[in-house]
Order: sequence, then structure tokens, then C-alpha cells
Amino acid sequence: MRLRNKPGAKEKMNEYPHIIIQNPSQHKGKWNKLFNNNNPIHVEVGTGKGQFLIGMSKLHPEVNYIGIEKYDSVLITALERAIETNQDNLKFLNEDVSEILDFFEEGEIDRVFINFTDPWPKNRHEKRRLTYKGFLKLYEEILNEKGEIHFKTDNQGLFEYSLESLSGYGMSLHNVSLDLHKSKIEGNVMTEYEEKFSRKGMRIYRCEASFKS
Ligand code: SAM
Repeated sequence: MRLRNKPGAKEKMNEYPHIIIQNPSQHKGKWNKLFNNNNPIHVEVGTGKGQFLIGMSKLHPEVNYIGIEKYDSVLITALERAIETNQDNLKFLNEDVSEILDFFEEGEIDRVFINFTDPWPKNRHEKRRLTYKGFLKLYEEILNEKGEIHFKTDNQGLFEYSLESLSGYGMSLHNVSLDLHKSKIEGNVMTEYEEKFSRKGMRIYRCEASFKS
């Protein structure tokens, strides 16, 4: 069982309010002011220890990144890495994704990344999956017209479920890969879990989805 709260983590996060944003609802509709530019904003839901967004923020200084993670026990590692890399285009929220409408204005976001989200295999836990239609509705609100969802997982069952959920919600699927590391998709940045699973020889599934206009 993962430790949700690590002693001292909250206090350390409070020491870096320019990286771990406190009271994110205060910035709703004004994130570009906080980043001090009009660059697109990409959000990773369930960001874990932040490896993916640290890599992306270095590769794409022209994009602003926000990672959302509910457990401070893992987000503390993302903070430690972010302090080291000191990227202006990277922020984290120690929050639950289900509250995302409190943080972002309609159409304020350009892309949502869902990486190696917990599969919640039992039917009765379907609503907790971050690709469940209830969450898609939230992403639809905050994404702009051209906004996209990019999804990666090692879990075949979750991938099948998510393809159905995304297309059932009326989204168009693009660049679907059943073996990402053998595909021609360029510029992949590995997440913590992706590295762990691919080292074990497991294949990685990926797709992109956009809302039909
Ligand atoms: N994305 C990272 C990666 O690929 O290495 C971490 C994957 S880990 C399996 C999933 C993470 O999502 C966990 O750290 C979990 O706490 C977080 N998470 C799951 N549901 C969440 C929610 N509703 N709000 C915020 N974080 C959530």
C-alpha cells in the first residue's frame, strides 16, 4: 500500500510555492500570467514522481507544463527534481484530478497527458479510471477546440477499455500504437512507470484523441 502522506513533505512543498502551486483555483483563467507568457499549456494527470514532465519541459521550453498528483509522498520527488532542473515552464499541483474544473477555465488547456494511470480492474471501480467518461467530460471542458488527450499504458485491458471509452465519448483516435517503442512515433519521453515496465520487456500502448467539432 502506497504511503499517501510523507512526514515533512507538505512543509517542503510550502517552501517552493513557485513550483508547487498552492490554491490553484486562484489562477483559474490566468495561468498564462503565472507563466508570464502565452505559450500553450499541457497538463499531466496523475503525474507521480514527475519524470515525464521534467523531460518534456526541458525538450519543449515553448510549452508550459502542469502536473497534477494527489499524493505528496510521490510528488515530493517531482519537487526535488524540479528544484534541480529549475525550469520556468513547469509547475505541479498537489491535488485530485476530479477537482480540475476548479483550477482551469473552459478551453484554457491545449493537451492532457494520461500516463500509466492506475487500471482499477474491478468493474465497481470503473469510475476511478482516469479515462472513464466522467473524467473525459472534465477534460473536454478545460481543453480548447484543438485540444488533445495523449494516453500511454502498459496495461492491455486498460488500453482496450480506454479506446472504447474515448471513441464511445465521440472522440477521434489518432496515432494508435500497440507497441510504442517499436513504432515510428518520434520524441517519446519515458515516464517512470514506462521505464520500469519496458525494462521488463512489456510493450507500451499509446494513442491520441481529439474531440470532433
Ligand atoms: N504518470 C506516472 C508514470 O507514468 O510514471 C505515474 C503513474 S502511477 C501508476 C499513477 C499516479 O496517478 C499515482 O501517483 C496516483 O497517485 C496518481 N493519481 C491517480 N488518480 C489520481 C487522481 N484522481 N488525482 C491525482 N492523482 C491521481
